[in-house]
Amino acid sequence: MSSDDWGFDTAQVHAGASPDPGTGARATPIFATSSFVYDSAEQAAAQFLLDDVEGFGYTRMGNPTTAVAERRIAHLEGGVSAVATASGQSATALALLNVLRSGDHIVMASQIYGGTTNLLGQRFAEIGIALTAVPVDDHDAWRAAVRPSTRAFFVESLGNPTGAVADLEALAAIAHDEAGVPLFVDNTLATPYLLRPLEHGADVVVHSTTKFLSGHGTVIGGVVVDGGTFDFGARPERWPGFHVPDAGHGEGGYWERFSPQRQAYSRRLRSTVLRDYGPAPSPFNSFLLIQGLETLSLRMRQHVANAQAVVEHLLAHPQVERVHYPTLSGTPWSAAAQRLLPKGGGAIVSFDVAGGLEAGRRFVDGVRLFSHLANVGDVRSLVIHPASTTNSSQSPEQRAASGIGPGLIRLSIGIEDPADLLADLDRAFRAALGG
Ligand SMILES: *Cc1c(COP(=O)(O)O)cnc(C)c1O
Repeated sequence: MSSDDWGFDTAQVHAGASPDPGTGARATPIFATSSFVYDSAEQAAAQFLLDDVEGFGYTRMGNPTTAVAERRIAHLEGGVSAVATASGQSATALALLNVLRSGDHIVMASQIYGGTTNLLGQRFAEIGIALTAVPVDDHDAWRAAVRPSTRAFFVESLGNPTGAVADLEALAAIAHDEAGVPLFVDNTLATPYLLRPLEHGADVVVHSTTKFLSGHGTVIGGVVVDGGTFDFGARPERWPGFHVPDAGHGEGGYWERFSPQRQAYSRRLRSTVLRDYGPAPSPFNSFLLIQGLETLSLRMRQHVANAQAVVEHLLAHPQVERVHYPTLSGTPWSAAAQRLLPKGGGAIVSFDVAGGLEAGRRFVDGVRLFSHLANVGDVRSLVIHPASTTNSSQSPEQRAASGIGPGLIRLSIGIEDPADLLADLDRAFRAALGG
């Protein structure tokens, strides 16, 4: 049986790994080495000219422990290859800088992780890359935002924190047929267990592996998965980075050299932007990521079941004004959610607590089992009040555009016993009443 036929539960344990040829070690070892000895002057030269695609030279560009995590995530997402980075932020930055240059423009969904808004809206503005943010479900607004300089669409499959679901097929059609640009999808909150964006028209998937893929709140990491689908050869004048040979990389551009293997995007990513900007992951973190990947589906099944129990509890609670969860009916994206999320809406549940800002602050002070912190995707249940923390630097109008009201509470539901989670939430609701 070929690994292509493996089910998800098998692939998350086996894909991309084999026993270590030197020692027979069955688990993937931590290759804690900065550099690798060349076999010969010829092999060394080939690596620098990018002809040797498999070998390792220096851990900033690749490492055997990290490579197992990369191959496994590429397999789980259905991509042709993947490049791991030191954080989710650097995955997003590198994924986009691989195709963008000063003077270019991005269209992004407004319901998005605050760190992505800062990166694309502020840091990229400083280097001459413009941004337009539009509601994820307003497809006419996406069309209207496209300029001659647009080079990327960026969206989250499940938006953080209100669970807006991107209609990936519709956005891919606009990106490809009308704008002529690739569709980038941050799939952090869905994970490939719930949704594989490349099967629905996305060209590149990014993750913060800090979250569900590692799963235990122990590492910071990111990954970029190349679907190998976007045709950077169709309008070469738009993508000079793929057609003009890079200094020191021999004859021919990346498109000419690597499009036959459908790896022009990921080869360029590793050999230029990762090499030159340098946010490589530590092999130790890659090892922890691999441990997390091996139980991804088991954890996601429990995350989703617990989240569903919490959603039902919140819907019936008198102190809850509104519940936000991807698969709830009556939202602008419920049709997309029904089509894209047959296994459930993930672990992030948000709600507006009655009493607004002050009640929200009292709520997070009232939990004992939930941890009050700024992360998601841990086996532990987590809670945060975005208006006073993660999104406090934004204006109330900016927060409103992302769906964040003054009393919004974001929960990341862990894998504990659901009854214990509901009891802790009720304790926090009593605290939210004050007095
Ligand atoms: C956390 C997160 C990021 C940023 O990842 P880091 O690993 O914290 O750098 C990006 N996108 C989403 C959806 C996230 O939740």
